[in-house]
Amino acid sequence: MASPKLHDFRRIVVKVGSSLLIDSHAGEVRADWLAALAADIAELHRGGRDVMIVSSGSIALGRSRLKLPRGPLKLEESQAAAAVGQIALARTWSEVLGAHDIGAGQILVTFQDTEERRRYLNARSTIGKLLEWRAVPVINENDTVATNEIRYGDNDRLAARVATMASADLLILLSDIDGLYTAPPGSNPDAQLIPVVESITAEIEGMAGAAGSELSRGGMRTKIEAGKIATSAGTHMLIASGKIDHPLKAIADGGPCTWFLTPANPVTARKRWIAGSLEPKGTLTIDAGAVVALRAGKSLLPAGVIRVDGQFARGDAVVVRGPDTHEIGRGLVAYDADDADKIKGRSSSDVMMILGITGRAEMIHRDDLVVGTAPA
Ligand code: GLU
Repeated sequence: MASPKLHDFRRIVVKVGSSLLIDSHAGEVRADWLAALAADIAELHRGGRDVMIVSSGSIALGRSRLKLPRGPLKLEESQAAAAVGQIALARTWSEVLGAHDIGAGQILVTFQDTEERRRYLNARSTIGKLLEWRAVPVINENDTVATNEIRYGDNDRLAARVATMASADLLILLSDIDGLYTAPPGSNPDAQLIPVVESITAEIEGMAGAAGSELSRGGMRTKIEAGKIATSAGTHMLIASGKIDHPLKAIADGGPCTWFLTPANPVTARKRWIAGSLEPKGTLTIDAGAVVALRAGKSLLPAGVIRVDGQFARGDAVVVRGPDTHEIGRGLVAYDADDADKIKGRSSSDVMMILGITGRAEMIHRDDLVVGTAPA
């Protein structure tokens, strides 16, 4: 299969590792390289694409700011170093994107934020709002609070989860190598770059080895793990070299890289997940007008809901039924059952008054809704 083109994608996550971003001797940000990357990001952004960055570097930067000696850090030491480094990291991104008139929004996530449905919906809607405002979310793991048992520990897999959470159609892992090789290229002169991986087989996994540099946690292995997460959820992934200036432009110009293709697209993959694998916790009965709106691809608003049954929590799956009780679809509801009951039939602008908080305008957002799960 031919490789896709960078410009075909509309929502792109770019993962930048510590070893690219931070000079390992000086312990400081590689400013010229980063400025060139920011120019590439600005170019994609100008073209109307949503761009998100997953950036490592907090521990490495904190370490140099605190003048800590070389060598491995204990968990609490790396957490404290991250606390110092993350401030510097966020400031750096804010400045380099600001130079292109792009606002950067810092998001620090933990494993639970991406895996627990309620928190997942929160993180996802914050990211969605930033993108709507044309800001660029800059995401890292919240290293200062994440302990070993509950952390990702590597930003490759974190970036893959963020990409699937935000329904991105492409994840780019900038690496110190330009892609996946048939054998370790350093020690094997016959090693060949694999341009396209159509599915991650045991053979592909075998090629990944275990390498990783001192500064970055991930080697090829965590990148392949990331590839599995991304491609199974409808996100294409590519690994390309970040060692050159303007690495994204190089990809756009057809430079060397490895594509990991997904057979699905993110919205259909997500919808399949909603339709198939979730146990509905309740039912929303909606009026005829809302049935028409949903079938036309719109979100479900509180105004269209006439009855709420079941004890569900925000983020749970619910069945949506028409006035004649036929199933119209299924979706992830944005309110707890009690709140949903209070705001049913009301306009979105009344929601604030009734609940005393500014909630979501939708009862079920159209991205979280699958219409036509059962014959009408
Ligand atoms: N979150 C870590 C940091 O910012 C990096 C994890 C990784 O390098 O993959 O230092």
